[in-house]
Parts: sequence; structure tokens; C-alpha cells
Amino acid sequence: MTEYELQTLVMEISKKYFGRSFDHNASFNTRLRTTGGRYLLASHNLEFNLKMANLPEFEGIIKHELTHYHLHIQKRGYQHKDLDFKRLLAQVGGSRFAPSLKREQKIWLYRCENEHNIMRKRRVQEGNYRCGLCGGGIHFVGQTGNK
Ligand SMILES: [Zn+2]
Ligand SMILES: [Zn+2]
Repeated sequence: MTEYELQTLVMEISKKYFGRSFDHNASFNTRLRTTGGRYLLASHNLEFNLKMANLPEFEGIIKHELTHYHLHIQKRGYQHKDLDFKRLLAQVGGSRFAPSLKREQKIWLYRCENEHNIMRKRRVQEGNYRCGLCGGGIHFVGQTGNK
């Protein structure tokens, strides 16, 4: 999706669901990681996560940011905790949270006496488990994430 297509899409959704025009700028921000989009209070512009642009939930993300936008411009409660926000979001069918791109998986890291690394998705009993390469005993090193 190009930024031109994004701008057009945001304007269409604004007209169709909010009955109001979107008169500012929508662009992709490549620095957004887990958030789907954000509304910039100072400029009234919207930024979206390019990595979520082809998800089926993307329209819901646009509606979410447009809810912030329209309420803020009308000087109504535009924050997540505000009743105006909750009501309008539900009315237009916007998403409450950004969809997660990939669930974080914890990895348990063990090491044997010959310094071989052994990674397991679940915790194992150190005493019952031997290194697959050398047969040595293992000890627990730590837990890591896959991100
Ligand atoms: Zn929000
Ligand atoms: Zn080993």
C-alpha cells in the first residue's frame, strides 16, 4: 500500500463511518513496532504501521485513530479512558488494541559442561536431561525472548 492509497483509504473511512472529512495527513511510520497507528495531537496527522497495512484488522486500526482525531478536533473526550471515545469507537467498530504481529515466545536456555547451548520452549529438569551433542549434564542459563 502506498501513502497515497493510505491517505485515500483514511479519507474514505472517515466519510463513510464518521460522516466527516479527514483534512489532515496520513502517512506510514516505519518506527512503529507494536502499535498499529497513532494520532499526533499537535499536527492532527495520523501515522500508521506499514507492517499492519495488509492485515484484515487494518481498517479497525484506522477507525481507532480516526476516533481520536475527530473527538479531539471537536474538543470532546478523545482519550482511551473517556466515555466519548469508548462510545464512538464501538459505534464505528474500531479496534480497541493493535493486533499483535507475533506473539512473543519465551525460550529457556541451558548449557552443558562443554558449553553447548540448548534451547527449549519449555522448562526441563536439569538432572534428567543431557546434552544432545556430547551427553554432558546441563545447567540453566536464563530465559530469553524471540524478539
Ligand atoms: Zn488510541
Ligand atoms: Zn554438550
